[in-house]
Amino acid sequence: MIDRYSRQILFPEIGKEGQKRLGNSSVVIIGCGGLGTIIATSLVRAGVGKVKIIDRDFIEYHNLQRQVLFDEEDIKSQLPKAIAAERHLKKVNSSVEIEGVIADVHYANIERLVTGADLILDGLDNLETRFLINDVSLKHKIPWVYGGAIAASGMTMNIIPGEPPCFRCVFPSLSPPGVIPTCDTVGVISPAPFITGSLQSTEAMKIMIGAKEINRDMIVIDVWEGTFHRFKISPRPDCPACQGKYEFLQRQFGIRTTILCGQNAVQVLDPKVEGISLKELAAYLKSSGEVSYDESTLRFTADNHEMVIFPDGRLILKNSLDESLARELYVKYIRT
Ligand SMILES: [Zn+2]
Repeated sequence: MIDRYSRQILFPEIGKEGQKRLGNSSVVIIGCGGLGTIIATSLVRAGVGKVKIIDRDFIEYHNLQRQVLFDEEDIKSQLPKAIAAERHLKKVNSSVEIEGVIADVHYANIERLVTGADLILDGLDNLETRFLINDVSLKHKIPWVYGGAIAASGMTMNIIPGEPPCFRCVFPSLSPPGVIPTCDTVGVISPAPFITGSLQSTEAMKIMIGAKEINRDMIVIDVWEGTFHRFKISPRPDCPACQGKYEFLQRQFGIRTTILCGQNAVQVLDPKVEGISLKELAAYLKSSGEVSYDESTLRFTADNHEMVIFPDGRLILKNSLDESLARELYVKYIRT
């Protein structure tokens, strides 16, 4: 085992003691896409004791361009990402306890899913679940490493419970729909998640071995421009999460779905959204599907899913009773 990690042990900041600490650590990676596959690969190879990988999706062809753990065989076998990741990584390092979990992380299951972890790593593509991670991290005193990548850029930051700033000090609340671009709208090139995920893995190792030089800045990279910036983040005195108010965990801002009886439709409602501009939303959605709108409703069809959106932010998914699909479409297209 020492031989397997010899190059890493030679690196003085890690050494034998650091290696032992990595082996005694347990991490949870939430989201196994562009970032998650890079993080999982490097931490399993580094010999972290336990690695839990949580993801809700199946692999699609457009994932292969950047999600390094998956291949065409996985798609033919219709494997969920969590399971494909577990299978591939067990072949890489059989001494690591690897657990793939197929789940959509939400307010009701996140505390159970992170129980026993020393560290949480963010491999997500949506803001809402990050607020949830932030709440659970501060509440249960488990540090987490935020990461996001889109187009040619990426961001990462460490959140250490009891040592502000936290994620909500940086992003006080969810953005209105259509403001934040996503991979579905502006795309992504693979080096952006590769480098961002690598930075997250580095910070994760530092936190696990108890290194002194834990980075507390927000790091922002642009692989196309070749730039790397660090931004000092100040704690926000009125940050609810830092004051122990875990609003996302308590579901004050959660998305609610309701089956509309007799209509064969599901309604999705986000109490946090106060109102949206259908005109702006139409402009945002037009590259993703068919859109038409007037002052009271916006009709949007993508991948054969027919949706109606109202100015109060409500979405109705027609010809379906699938609440989790409706929720997913809402997060994908309306609130990102
Ligand atoms: Zn805070």
